[in-house]
Amino acid sequence: MLHILVVDQGGALLDQLTALAGDAALYRFESVTVEEAYASLQQRRGDLLLVDDQAGECTGIALLHRCATELAMVVPLIYCTNSIDKEMIDAAFAAGATDVLRLKGMSADLFGRSLCYALEQVRQRLKTNSMLRTIIDLVPGMIYVKDRDGRFLLANQATAEFYGTSVSQIIGTNQAYWHRDVDEFALFQEQDRKVIDHHEHIEGMIDQLTTPDGVCHILETSKIPLSFFDGNVPAVLGISRDITENRRLQKAQTMVMAALDAAADAVVITALDGTIEYVNLAFERMTGYSAAEAIGQTPRILKSGHQDTAFYREMWKILLAGETFRAVITNRRKDGLLFEAEETITPVYDEHNHMVAFVAVERDVTEKKKAEQALRSSEERFSLAAEGSNDGLWDWDIVNDQVYVSPRVYAMVGRDETSGAIRTAADFFDLLAAADGQSGLLKRINRHLNGLTEYFSHECKISSEDGKKNRWLQARGIARRDEAGHAIRMAGSLTDITVFKQSEKELVEQSLRDPLTGLANRKMFMNHLTSAIHASDVHGDYQAAVLYIGINRMKELRTSMGDTLGDRLISKVARRIRDCTRPSDVFAYVHSGEFAMLLPKVQSQHAAEIMATRIDKAMGRPFRESAQQIKVSTSIGITMIDHSSSRVPEYVLRDAALAQSEARKRSQQYSLFDQRMHDAALQRIQLESELDDAIAGHQFQLYLQPIMDLQHEVIAGFEALIRWMHHDRGMISPAEFIPVAEETGQIIEIGKWVLRQAFQQLCKWHGMGGVRSDLYISINLSPLQLADEATLQLIYQLLEQAPFPPSHLRIEITESAILEDAEYTRSLLGKLHECGSRLYLDDFGTGYSSLSYLHSFPFDVLKVDQSFTFKIDSDPATRKITESIIQLGTHLGMKVVAEGVETEAHRNVLIGMGCHYGQGYLFSKPLPPEQAETFIDTSCLHVAGQGYAEKP
Ligand code: C2E
Ligand code: MG
Ligand code: MG
Repeated sequence: MLHILVVDQGGALLDQLTALAGDAALYRFESVTVEEAYASLQQRRGDLLLVDDQAGECTGIALLHRCATELAMVVPLIYCTNSIDKEMIDAAFAAGATDVLRLKGMSADLFGRSLCYALEQVRQRLKTNSMLRTIIDLVPGMIYVKDRDGRFLLANQATAEFYGTSVSQIIGTNQAYWHRDVDEFALFQEQDRKVIDHHEHIEGMIDQLTTPDGVCHILETSKIPLSFFDGNVPAVLGISRDITENRRLQKAQTMVMAALDAAADAVVITALDGTIEYVNLAFERMTGYSAAEAIGQTPRILKSGHQDTAFYREMWKILLAGETFRAVITNRRKDGLLFEAEETITPVYDEHNHMVAFVAVERDVTEKKKAEQALRSSEERFSLAAEGSNDGLWDWDIVNDQVYVSPRVYAMVGRDETSGAIRTAADFFDLLAAADGQSGLLKRINRHLNGLTEYFSHECKISSEDGKKNRWLQARGIARRDEAGHAIRMAGSLTDITVFKQSEKELVEQSLRDPLTGLANRKMFMNHLTSAIHASDVHGDYQAAVLYIGINRMKELRTSMGDTLGDRLISKVARRIRDCTRPSDVFAYVHSGEFAMLLPKVQSQHAAEIMATRIDKAMGRPFRESAQQIKVSTSIGITMIDHSSSRVPEYVLRDAALAQSEARKRSQQYSLFDQRMHDAALQRIQLESELDDAIAGHQFQLYLQPIMDLQHEVIAGFEALIRWMHHDRGMISPAEFIPVAEETGQIIEIGKWVLRQAFQQLCKWHGMGGVRSDLYISINLSPLQLADEATLQLIYQLLEQAPFPPSHLRIEITESAILEDAEYTRSLLGKLHECGSRLYLDDFGTGYSSLSYLHSFPFDVLKVDQSFTFKIDSDPATRKITESIIQLGTHLGMKVVAEGVETEAHRNVLIGMGCHYGQGYLFSKPLPPEQAETFIDTSCLHVAGQGYAEKP
């Protein structure tokens, strides 16, 4: 029997139905109100609902709608109407009607079949629904349908589980209810509305969602609009997949990959058959194969052939037994180079404990192996070096304060290795420090440890036990530091430098000794001088004397004796002077032929004068050298060191030397230094620099002094005498500046100037003709000029060019020019003579006055020095000598000129002695060229009619 609920207006439908049904046993009709129908259906009472189109205050369609949406429509809903309005019929179906029946004229049979059909339809729908339900509940992802407000119209099991509830609980609830985060929900609702309102499709969108339990999930969602859902409510169908775990795994995997790539060791994953599935970056670096090249291959690509098949068999045996395999394997890179790899291969298991792969970790140990090898050889070398070296070796582990010293160190420091073991820094360094009590050792170590010195070095003296034998040791070392720069280790050597120290001492001593005389040298003397000056600084009354001792005429002696004998003579002189000294005196050889002596702690300069006299006396006896008796004299300069003297040792010695040269000039035994000597020396220096200016600034003038023919009283020629017209000092005599110019070499330039002047003068006179063209000019040549090649060349050249006979240019030289090197001078003079020049021996009688020179050198004229002339009328002895010189000269075929003829008496005596020529103030002072010309004119007038003088 079918229980049929009937909702109608006033019972008309029920009557109609009862009439139509006929067989009362088949149907039971119950008339209900809309509310009652709803309530009954909710309780699942009634098999069918028939709704009249005139059903009460609420239309039948509205009721259908309500039932269809709110109740799950498990009961067929049949809309009964007599209308044939199509719109209304459509509306009924749209509202959820299972069928629409027009009862009017319907047979009982049709009615019954219609009801059966409706029932079958609902049953079919329920069947389909439950099937779909089962399907969507089986789907692992979330499937749900929501309306525009976010209410769940459908949700599968996965959705319910996701929200932690049941399907029945979730249906009809608003999604907002399940969301903790308001913003999150707002976002979803906005998405849903977009889909519903704009019919948009969303695919694979990633969202983040927090469930009521507070867990954050990542969802991948696709959404489509649904227009056909129950009751045609606009809705959205969503399918979401919770990919939180996926993501986590993905991230973990990425991190693992990054870690593997960052690893220094190569990692290879192979399948069980050995096919490479993964390699990391280190593998690419180590082998030269890129991941793309390696994957798909087997590790055989690295095979070097250094491992035999037995090796690999063993490897597979271990691996397949599920154990880890470890070995150092020689592999070959892609480029063919071999490398040593420390390899660990481990089997990998899946969750079912099935072996699925192998992971191999390889470490390149080529460098390590090399380093180990190097270390082994270096250790070997070290121990060999330690054994073979003469030096001791030490090594100090600073961090642990452990010292190792090689056996040689024990021998060097005189320790027994067993009883006096050296184990700590204190053991070792105390030994060295105590050796000579030097505290500088620790300071040096610390300075090096603190990075202030490049290496540590220390010298110490160790005495043997009996104290008789000293040994010098040098410790050297260098520290190793950690990254922060702290010294952690220091190692070095210990060297026996005794021999070196001895020779160093000898060298120092040698460097302070003069090898010729064995005396102290200048350097050592200066050291003593410095000490004496220092003593006078400290003690106000301290006095010391310095003597500068020069051997007179040393140059000449050397020239005549030769160097070897000269040196021997100096040694002998040195010995004799040394015998005059006390032990405290310092006696040194400071310059060629010159000595210095320091008399420390004297009362006055008298002590120095006594010493000077003593030395002079010691020189009294001649020296015997090669069967010759040689007379040696000295000149001595004395200066004192006291609080008022110079503080500079060089100046003190210079003062003494100045006093010595003064003594020599004045032919005194000794001379005491006084400030004027210094001033004069300064003046000389001043003069020297002014001479330079004079040469450049044409401050010279050539004066001419007539040389007279005494017999005929006529002018024979002139001597050229230079004058310096100084801008401040007026005319300066050559006697003052020529010696300076000779000393400095400036005489060469000056001399050339004189030569040219004289030459010009002669050219001029020659051009003028008459008496002038017969006159000669003699010029003075210093020894230095005579030795100067350029000067000689100039003379030759001038003589060659001269329009006048070469005999008009005459040359005066003094004896000292010959003494330097007699042979050489002879050849030079010979050449000059051959050129036609006439040669004068000047100032005869003042020097050696060697008569042999007169004979062996090509002199034409002899000039008797004015010191003779001055005395010929007053001193019979001088007169005698002068007469002899004139006679000798004449005898040797020379002409004789007397210098310094100042008086008539001089002239008369000279004429009486047969002297040929005279030069002196009696006739004329040296004159400037113009005045010399005037002199020629007047003198010619004077002798007019007597003819010209015969030329010497
Ligand atoms: P000297 O060659 O022996 O020259 C003679 C010196 O005696 C000249 O001095 C001259 O002025 C001076 N004299 C001449 N007659 C008398 C006299 O009756 N009484 C006195 N008391 N003296 C007289 P001066 O000119 O001062 O020259 C000095 C020395 O300078 C010269 O001695 C000569 O050695 C040197 N000298 C001068 N000019 C030159 C030169 O151009 N070159 C070189 N190398 N030396 C020169
Ligand atoms: Mg002269
Ligand atoms: Mg002279």
